[in-house]
Amino acid sequence: MIKLGCHMSVSKGFANMGRDALSIGADTLQFFTRNPRGSKAKEIDLEDIAEFNKICAENSFGAVIAHAPYTLNPCSKDEKVREFAFETMADDMNRLELIDNVYYNFHPGSHVGQGAQEGIRLIAEVINSAVKPGNKTTVLLETMAGKGTEIGKCFEELKSIMDSVKSGINIGVCMDTCHVFDAGYDIVTDLDGVLREFDSIIGIDRLMALHINDSMNPIGSHKDRHQKIGQGSIGSEAFSRIVNHPYLKRLPMCLETPNELDGYKREIELLRGFAK
Ligand code: FE
Ligand code: FE
Ligand code: ZN
Repeated sequence: MIKLGCHMSVSKGFANMGRDALSIGADTLQFFTRNPRGSKAKEIDLEDIAEFNKICAENSFGAVIAHAPYTLNPCSKDEKVREFAFETMADDMNRLELIDNVYYNFHPGSHVGQGAQEGIRLIAEVINSAVKPGNKTTVLLETMAGKGTEIGKCFEELKSIMDSVKSGINIGVCMDTCHVFDAGYDIVTDLDGVLREFDSIIGIDRLMALHINDSMNPIGSHKDRHQKIGQGSIGSEAFSRIVNHPYLKRLPMCLETPNELDGYKREIELLRGFAK
């Protein structure tokens, strides 16, 4: 069975978030490691995290996804912004050691005029100093829509970052369906072709998770506006093929559509209905 969940709030604690996931039929989930705008993470409650680990294990959850704040920009021209990215990532990675089966997903960042190549070098530099080779959490680069000067809008850029990361650091990719579509990859009429391209450039075994979002805009729009499943330009049929694709159905899938919990519950039911 596919592992399906959605983006959730951890504000009432990890165990409560796990219970909320169960209540909507989810068996994975995603949460922000800290407020996307602010910088301070909540204090660690070991009992709460132990309870969360238990809920995940007892209910056969897939890997859960910890999402770094959007304000993290490891390839900023501003050294202070890069320093913040380093400190946040290092602190998040330390905390995530306590969670049993978790990926750490982040947006590679936007370069500020210094070019993609220099941006890629800076991103790898932050990863190399923030992530310790012994960390058990796998770091995931998210595929981006290519809004502005976002890095990660094509598989080649993600591959370059991965190639510049020290050996011993576990690194993979989280594919966001809205983002790859907005970046110009035709997952609607040529899903197989896109995944073959991913395989030849990065290696399909490096694809570790999916963000399941429809898109408000046409292919190649570079907009990054998520839509509810079946109500955007990707459409239900494409999502049916996505959740059944042999390369994808083994991955944890998290919705990031404009919904509250009840809406997520309906979309989880809808997608589980698509899965053969
Ligand atoms: Fe994201
Ligand atoms: Fe996403
Ligand atoms: Zn997005």
